[in-house]
Amino acid sequence: MKTRIEVEPELIEKLEDIIGNEWVVTDKEVMLDYVADETAPTVCPEPAAAVVLVKPDTSQEISNILKLANQWKTFVFPRGGGTGLVGGSVPTENGIILSLERMNRVIELDRQNLMIVVEAGVTLEKLMEAADEANLLFPLHPGDEAAQVGGLVACNAGGVRAVRYGVMRNYVKGIDVVLPTGEILSLGGKTLKNVAGYDLMHLIVGSQGTLGVITKVILRLYPRFKETATLIIPYESRHKALETIPNVLREGITPLAIEYMERGLMEESAKKLGKEWPVKRGKASLMIIATGNSKEEVYLEADRIDKIAEQYDAIDTLVVENRRKQNDILSIRSNIYLTLKPYIMDVLDVAVPPANMEKLMDELDEIAARYGMYLPMVGHAGDGNLHPHVLMKKAGGAKEEDLEKVKREIYSATLSLGGTITAEHGIGKIRTKSLNDFLDKKTIGIMKKIKRVFDPNNILNPGTIIS
Ligand SMILES: Cc1cc2nc3c(=O)[nH]c(=O)nc-3n(C[C@H](O)[C@H](O)[C@H](O)COP(=O)(O)OP(=O)(O)OC[C@H]3O[C@@H](n4cnc5c(N)ncnc54)[C@H](O)[C@@H]3O)c2cc1C
Repeated sequence: MKTRIEVEPELIEKLEDIIGNEWVVTDKEVMLDYVADETAPTVCPEPAAAVVLVKPDTSQEISNILKLANQWKTFVFPRGGGTGLVGGSVPTENGIILSLERMNRVIELDRQNLMIVVEAGVTLEKLMEAADEANLLFPLHPGDEAAQVGGLVACNAGGVRAVRYGVMRNYVKGIDVVLPTGEILSLGGKTLKNVAGYDLMHLIVGSQGTLGVITKVILRLYPRFKETATLIIPYESRHKALETIPNVLREGITPLAIEYMERGLMEESAKKLGKEWPVKRGKASLMIIATGNSKEEVYLEADRIDKIAEQYDAIDTLVVENRRKQNDILSIRSNIYLTLKPYIMDVLDVAVPPANMEKLMDELDEIAARYGMYLPMVGHAGDGNLHPHVLMKKAGGAKEEDLEKVKREIYSATLSLGGTITAEHGIGKIRTKSLNDFLDKKTIGIMKKIKRVFDPNNILNPGTIIS
């Protein structure tokens, strides 16, 4: 954090009038937890010096804070769980950090419509528990359960279990959002269909705190599967592993998750958690989650997947049924990033049409060879979404001065295969230049105009998405 300059006392007083002194924080030590997110330190933006943290409890309080900020032309940085990987919630200008942590109530569990209504500060962990208690399921699992619903919606998060039901956007049915001018909008609702005008709700999804502060969300839930099994399928050849995937899908099997992983990484991640990776053979593996309403149904699906995998030279298939062990496997998968984090310069988040995943990985191997670096790759293979981890030189990765060139080459390869530079982490504050380089000017121009309509004084999360 830069040398501290104090926030104007009058601003603090006005904020205290809105939410009470207890919830306006200027303590430097406390603030340290709010000025960074989980972005790799090499690329994480530096926070500004004079920031004040506010913890409102209602949409009305947020509205009053934004009205004040808009009047004073003070920057506001919405913050969820701080698990973002692109510096989205980092306060890079002097201003207000607006944390949603107190707005963490489950408002309604609607079993008739299979929907849950929550405040934006509810964590993924709490959301999954609430659904579970009602014998329902929120299937999506973006790796860090400390992420908040508001953050997940603002990032349109994806993660491991997006193959069957899609990403966050597919679950969102309604949103309450406070605009930078302080107006409160209720968008969408519990209907499954809605074409009443332009779809502003879906514009808010993925807008990374640049168009409004999300305060309440209606999410779709699903019936809980009676049984699930996690299959780990090891291969000697990455190509064979990836070739298996379209054949599984073409057979009409749509698992909850299809992940690609390298064994060495999984073993490292397991060790870090004090657990053991259960498969000892093969360089590459697929992790597939099969589901059903009975053990027999799951066995049948697992057996069909196994038979297809065999045709592509899978070594053998481990079927894990025990719920705790399945959770262990998921947590080992989710922990890869944090295991590698001390050595990561940047973790990319590219996506191509799923059938091009193999070609993309081959091209990335060539890039890695040109730079003489080890480039670990894990991916949500069923979605064509790959996370190449660009490591530091000391961990066998790239020289720091080559980082930008490496990224450019990876992005160019991705785009030439019909892909996108980010599938789920978003642009945040660290990829605005890449967005400018790789998205056409007309599209960016329209985005800038939209930002101006919502936020005429550019007070909300400046420097995010649009530079
Ligand atoms: C170990 C690990 C694994 C991860 N795995 C995945 C994964 O598999 N898939 C995936 O998609 N992501 C993954 N992530 C990234 C991260 O968890 C997601 O981006 C998540 O959506 C961030 O939510 P958050 O509440 O932590 O938001 P924050 O990090 O606090 O903020 C993220 C962005 O959302 C904005 N924001 C937050 N709350 C609000 C709100 N209420 N209203 C408006 N804007 C808001 C912020 O301003 C910021 O721009 C992973 C992160 C970690 C650390």
